[in-house]
Amino acid sequence: MHIDILSAVPRLLDSWFEESILKRAQSKGLVEIEVHDLRIWSTDKHKRLDDYPFGGGAGMVMSVVPIHRAITELRAKRTVDEVIYMSPDGELLSQGLANSLSLKGNLIILCGHYKGVDERVREHLITREVSIGDYVLSGGELAAAVLSDAVIRLLPGVLGDETSALSDSFQDGLLAPPDYTRPADYQGWTVPEVLLSGHQARIEAWRAEQAQERTRQRRPGLLGRSDETGA
Ligand code: SAH
Repeated sequence: MHIDILSAVPRLLDSWFEESILKRAQSKGLVEIEVHDLRIWSTDKHKRLDDYPFGGGAGMVMSVVPIHRAITELRAKRTVDEVIYMSPDGELLSQGLANSLSLKGNLIILCGHYKGVDERVREHLITREVSIGDYVLSGGELAAAVLSDAVIRLLPGVLGDETSALSDSFQDGLLAPPDYTRPADYQGWTVPEVLLSGHQARIEAWRAEQAQERTRQRRPGLLGRSDETGA
């Protein structure tokens, strides 16, 4: 998979992809991530990316010109499956959406800033719009990092234990059961006996029951929904 991220503030994403699981995914060659400074494509002599909104009003709007030039250049390099704009009014990110994007080859992710982008970008250049939640951030970079992380950890080989992504919350429409590690008794805080029993069938049954119970208590709306894995 190849992910191109277009940003007005690329340095915001400097460290995110350089640590831990996402770094390993890149060094294993499972994903290539390129964060591009949109200013490269600015035709303005001061390399500006934004301008005043037509009709007046507060805030600045990102111009269609550098964004169009950037996407055109990247599309000429490789077949792009989706050009995603991070936007609070986009489709809400879910595990189902992350699953379906993890099956794609190449993605471009556009981060907005200021008031957002000229509407013509959305009409003509974007194939998908994704929100990470019903709140407004000052830029799309954090949202792009969230989306990329959710997608990349699903790529085969990225997580050390192949089965661990499958047992995560939401993957089967349920929240994950609780986990414990050593010590088994920490100052009287003990671990459920069954996990120490070595009896795998009983352990699996306990985990399944805990997942059901936790989902019923915390997110009852997830129960009976079947759209989390496919999308
Ligand atoms: N004026 C816009 C908000 C712009 S916020 C509106 O009212 O809808 C600036 C940028 O931050 C957006 O262009 C988008 O890329 C990003 N952003 C803000 N909140 C986001 C969210 N919840 N999900 C994804 N991206 C978001």
